[in-house]
Amino acid sequence: MAALVQLVHEEAGRFNRRFVVRLVDGASVEAVLYRGDTLCISSQVGCAVGCPFCASGANGLVRPLRLEELCAQVEAVRAVAPGLRRLTLSGVGEPLHCPAAPDFVLWARELGLPTSLTTSGGPIEKLAHWMREVPHNGITLSVHAGTEVTRAKMVPKGPSLERLFGALEAIVPSLSRNRRKKVALAYLLLAGENDADDELDAFAARARGLGVFVHLYAYNPVPTSDAKPVTRERYEAAYARLTSQGLRVRMSSKARIEANGGCGTLIARRGLAARGLG
Ligand code: SF4
Repeated sequence: MAALVQLVHEEAGRFNRRFVVRLVDGASVEAVLYRGDTLCISSQVGCAVGCPFCASGANGLVRPLRLEELCAQVEAVRAVAPGLRRLTLSGVGEPLHCPAAPDFVLWARELGLPTSLTTSGGPIEKLAHWMREVPHNGITLSVHAGTEVTRAKMVPKGPSLERLFGALEAIVPSLSRNRRKKVALAYLLLAGENDADDELDAFAARARGLGVFVHLYAYNPVPTSDAKPVTRERYEAAYARLTSQGLRVRMSSKARIEANGGCGTLIARRGLAARGLG
């Protein structure tokens, strides 16, 4: 019987090992091993959220992964990289759109592998379930905007800021201290899109009351998008602006901004090469 998943390609950087994972129906997703102990896996083939800066969602959604496929990604990488200590559902796909993801978290927990996730936040009912009930090891909400106009451009099929922050304001204070510490917001800075001072101030005004950490991400360009990173100077200025408004902000790690590190990059590059465009 054919293996449920196969590692068909690998690229190693200074901090990461990136794998193309082929599924039994021929579709491909990506898994990334950070610093040898943290594995980022994919929850869907493609993605319906359509963020314009992301290679993973460039061709829309094909299908969510089944529980067996989620588990098989972990087993396949573990076979070539023992020493795995934690997992994150932050690769290709929106984990809240993957029905098997909560059971996957339980499966991984049994193996002693705590699992975090990154989500655009919708559907809101699913977000509430994950935040209150699923034993995750961290949930990072991709916000990337302070105004609704920019949010609609950056995360086209995600919930509006009003709905997202309305839910967070209702849920976060009701969580235990330990679970509250595991909630964070993400703001990916793109030149000319969401890096203006007014946009950052509007984001800070919404985020401040939640008291959670903010991950301020530098952008890693992908071959399917014209989106551009900000300069290092602008990145540091944005960090200073948000922290001066009372937010606790963390900047991107070197592992995240390694070359070709953008989510979905390997698959996008292979697709372009196959069409003679890469
Ligand atoms: S950034 Fe995440 S939610 Fe947005 S299209 Fe890419 S995989 Fe989907």
